[in-house]
Amino acid sequence: MTGFQADLHCHSTCSDGTLSPRDLLLLAKSTGLSGISITDHDSIEAYETAIPIAKEIGLEIFSGAEFSTTLNGVSVHILAYGFSLQHPLIHALCQTHNLRRLNRNRTILDNLAKHQLPITEEELMECSTFEGAQSKATIGRPHIAMAMIKKGYVKNIREAFDKYIGEERCCYAPGEPITTEDTLETLHKANSIVVIAHPHLILNSSIVQQLLKMDFDGIEGYYSRFNNDQNKRWLKAAKKKNWLVTGGSDFHGDTKPNIALGCSWVSEETFRVIQQRFIENGEM
Ligand code: AMP
Ligand code: ZN
Ligand code: FE
Ligand code: FE
Repeated sequence: MTGFQADLHCHSTCSDGTLSPRDLLLLAKSTGLSGISITDHDSIEAYETAIPIAKEIGLEIFSGAEFSTTLNGVSVHILAYGFSLQHPLIHALCQTHNLRRLNRNRTILDNLAKHQLPITEEELMECSTFEGAQSKATIGRPHIAMAMIKKGYVKNIREAFDKYIGEERCCYAPGEPITTEDTLETLHKANSIVVIAHPHLILNSSIVQQLLKMDFDGIEGYYSRFNNDQNKRWLKAAKKKNWLVTGGSDFHGDTKPNIALGCSWVSEETFRVIQQRFIENGEM
């Protein structure tokens, strides 16, 4: 890698990634990245260890998280950056999601049992490799898919999603919705920079139009699985609105083995804009 590159979208064992925060940062460093934001699903747990390790190894870092939201019944992921890691509203939002997931995962396990594919909550928990109190890690469908593989119900993660736990499949459950509007409002109250994640994955164009009318600060314009046309489309949309263009790989480790950390990134200029907010919020 040449010059300053920062990956602003990746997952650790605090959600559905397979590398611990420490190993993720060490990989970032050895890959040649200069900066990173760890964006676990609905969790900022990684930062407890990540901040001191990043300092120790000389990798620049600011806060991040990827929140699951619902807009008119459609799942929308949004990325938050630069907030204070101490902010009570951020902690409360993560806590609400933790509870939402606990209930939702139970419903999915019930649905699987009805399809003669029983998995206990203990078996599900064993699929999280988080080092610490299990109740602190985000448990999601990739963990359920891993449990299904272990039990011999499916051959791989893809089969689990395609046949059973993908949206609109027989065992799927969305859980109690937490709306995009409310999440955006909460994150702004916490003085966060808020970005539409991987917009190309939102297949409903009316939802995309609604999102583009909302008060976001940016859009994820660089992403591991964009083609050139998609990339241009989001860059154009961002320019029109004077939004930030962020980017990252969405690295998950072994659960998405084709995506390498750092394969999508932002320049130093973008990194500093968000880092400035992080500093303004009393961090670093
Ligand atoms: P959850 O947040 O628990 O609903 O799980 C959603 C996560 O599962 C996403 O963030 C992806 O990492 C992963 N995922 C979603 N769809 C698929 C799929 N078809 N194949 C593999 N992983 C998927
Ligand atoms: Zn994920
Ligand atoms: Fe996502
Ligand atoms: Fe992600």
